Amino acid sequence: MKIPRRKALAALGSSALLPLVAGAQSPPKAQANANARPIRIAVMHFVHETVTFLPYDTTTDDFIYEGSPARGEALLASQPVSYIGGFVTVAREYGNVELVGIESPLGSKKGSGSGWIQKAAFDHFVNKMMDDLKQQGHFDGAYLCLHGAMGVRDVAKPEAEIARRVREVIGPKGFIVGTFDPHGNEDAEFLKYANLSFCIKYYPHYDGYLQGERAARTLIRCIRGQYKPVSATRKPPILTPSVLQWTGASPWMDIVQRCLTWEAREPDVYVNFFYGFGFMDAIDAGMCFQVVTNGNPELAEHIADDIAGTAWRLRDEFLHHTKVVHHAEGVRLAKTAMKEGKVVLADHSDRTGAATWLLQQIVDQQLSDTLIGTVADEEAINTLRKKGVKVGDAFDMEVGGRIDVSAGKPVRIRGTVVSVSGGITHGGGKAAGSQLWVGVKFGDNNVLIISPYLVQIIEPRHFYDLNLDPDKFKVFAIKSRVHFHRGFTDSGYCKSFILVEPEQPFVGTVRLEALNYQHTPVKRLYPYGANVTFQVKGPGKLSDYPGRDGTTE
Ligand SMILES: [Zn+2]
Repeated sequence: MKIPRRKALAALGSSALLPLVAGAQSPPKAQANANARPIRIAVMHFVHETVTFLPYDTTTDDFIYEGSPARGEALLASQPVSYIGGFVTVAREYGNVELVGIESPLGSKKGSGSGWIQKAAFDHFVNKMMDDLKQQGHFDGAYLCLHGAMGVRDVAKPEAEIARRVREVIGPKGFIVGTFDPHGNEDAEFLKYANLSFCIKYYPHYDGYLQGERAARTLIRCIRGQYKPVSATRKPPILTPSVLQWTGASPWMDIVQRCLTWEAREPDVYVNFFYGFGFMDAIDAGMCFQVVTNGNPELAEHIADDIAGTAWRLRDEFLHHTKVVHHAEGVRLAKTAMKEGKVVLADHSDRTGAATWLLQQIVDQQLSDTLIGTVADEEAINTLRKKGVKVGDAFDMEVGGRIDVSAGKPVRIRGTVVSVSGGITHGGGKAAGSQLWVGVKFGDNNVLIISPYLVQIIEPRHFYDLNLDPDKFKVFAIKSRVHFHRGFTDSGYCKSFILVEPEQPFVGTVRLEALNYQHTPVKRLYPYGANVTFQVKGPGKLSDYPGRDGTTE
């Protein structure tokens, strides 16, 4: 029976490259031609982790600076050790794959230190991306480097909206893959328009490069007709603050391990574990699991039920394994801990960067040998710039606070300027290295670093960018929740860490119930609702299990 060519292609979902299809036609020549045509993949980037409770919006201008937007090779080279780097490396291992960097904004220069993205800013960049995508011709696939917790005024699910727009341009036969941050607030919507998603598993975010590599390999297999993505999504109604989500401790590490176990035992299975992001007011805020299999819907459903059910059983433990103390207590504990080795004093809750609660305690309790990085104060930085600040200058100014009630009062610091720099330069982008940062020595071997914006220092070697030697300090007072483990404790550099927050439930609090949610159905989420329920299937009968025997060697 002769099958019309168009129908045969549609039935197979995609590809003229599949030998079977070519074989059904007039084989050798058609196949040779098909293989000669390069696979064309568009690469796009639009990432923001939006803290929607901050009092000022994120604007178009926040994404425009030297190097951003980026396109072509500049975009492809923008993340050498993260998602895009992994994607590009693997895609270029294939001989006939062409990558096209579509004009895309890089990260906001304020990081996550600004609120709702204005609709006009979102439209501006997405429209530009789509225009460029259209102009670059036919694509077999598109790679979207996204976050998952982008908050845009009047756009309920921005990442899904980007996928929808890309689908419109590349058509139903193209394949779309996304990579995500585990703090994404996701559900099944993105996968309505996209075929695949890969989410970082570890927090700190260690495996962005790996997820980029997997995204490239699986996307190319899809385009070649070798992988037929089928997904299942589960959303156990659990909302947790990010400081509790460290995957170096149970039960977070147990869920990650369960995802890894499924991926290890079943070829072609990928499991995404979104922890969710409570500081973004979104209808889909909270935990989510996505499972992708190669044409096996039963297996996808089974794994999704298993992991979501496991998470639901552990719901109480998600909340109670991390200890957070008040700033005053934290400084007291640091005084003892610093005798045993270097200590991280992490103020996890500051979402403006300007908070001075910890600085005030360091001053009041006369903590010594402490490097404080950073307190954000754009006004002070502007004043210092005007003065032409230089190393050796005497310093007497009020620093930080003011921005809002969560930032506290400014603290007067008297000392000597010991560092004037362009800021930390790691990772490029975000206007890094081109700002003005000032380090002031005060008290007993303390240095306070003032930056224009919120900064999370996650690697002690980044202090070298500021001409400061971390080896000369015993305590690092930083604005970080979990990311700092990468450079400070998982590396072995510091012996201990202390997590601190103010008494009041400000924006970044662990007490999410204090936030004024307009969109997040917080009363339907554990632990904030009174009677939150979640129905999970299983454990069912053994005969329901869709898996296969593995090897026993
Ligand atoms: Zn994250």
